[in-house]
Amino acid sequence: MNNTAKPDMEVTPTKRIAAIQEKIKAAAERAGRDAGEVKLIAVSKVFTADHIAPVIAAGQRMFGENRVQEALGKWPELKERTPDVELHLIGPLQSNKARDAVELFDVIHTIDRPKIARTIAGEIERTGRNPRLLVQVNTGEEEQKAGMLPADTDEFVRQCRNEFGLTIEGLMCIPPVDEEPSLHFALLNKLAARNGLRELSMGMSADYENAVALGATYVRVGTAIFGQRG
Ligand SMILES: *Cc1c(COP(=O)(O)O)cnc(C)c1O
Repeated sequence: MNNTAKPDMEVTPTKRIAAIQEKIKAAAERAGRDAGEVKLIAVSKVFTADHIAPVIAAGQRMFGENRVQEALGKWPELKERTPDVELHLIGPLQSNKARDAVELFDVIHTIDRPKIARTIAGEIERTGRNPRLLVQVNTGEEEQKAGMLPADTDEFVRQCRNEFGLTIEGLMCIPPVDEEPSLHFALLNKLAARNGLRELSMGMSADYENAVALGATYVRVGTAIFGQRG
């Protein structure tokens, strides 16, 4: 793990974001990529509106949450104050939370099974809202982890498009904690390319530079911005 995962608590989240943006830019340039293609999502799960508001005030606009219920408790008011904030759902989605998710989130990274895809399609039709959608892939084929298996991903993306009428913009993964993430990032990149998908949501505090080198367009960084979640 590199030291970006252990933030200096004397430094504000805003300063840390600036430092992370610099590292993203450098990683993109090293890889011959346009740094403008990489978007930083500040993962604010567990932190309260009081922690988040100064980060919004400093100019950060993309935030990630992993629980619909928790997000409902803090984001409607924050979004009302700053309507151009873009909220990303990066945690597992249950059917009974699909309605709230479609109403609150601008991007959902965790479409991972036909049942949820069908339910989300119904909510999009009902509400007229149109969150951008990514499919989560369980690249490590871990029993306990959400996501489509790599071998089933092509067919699922096709099904989302053809059967449910959903526009899928990209793929997302969370590599196993005890494995070299690069192999998972490379696999996700390959799956996205062969399905004509342009967004790649991959990379967290400990490995976002690595993810940028392998094509990430969204990195999801929590601890390195807000500190340990305790
Ligand atoms: C919490 C979380 C992150 C952020 O992880 P850090 O290691 O704190 O940067 C990224 N992605 C998902 C899906 C998460 O749940």
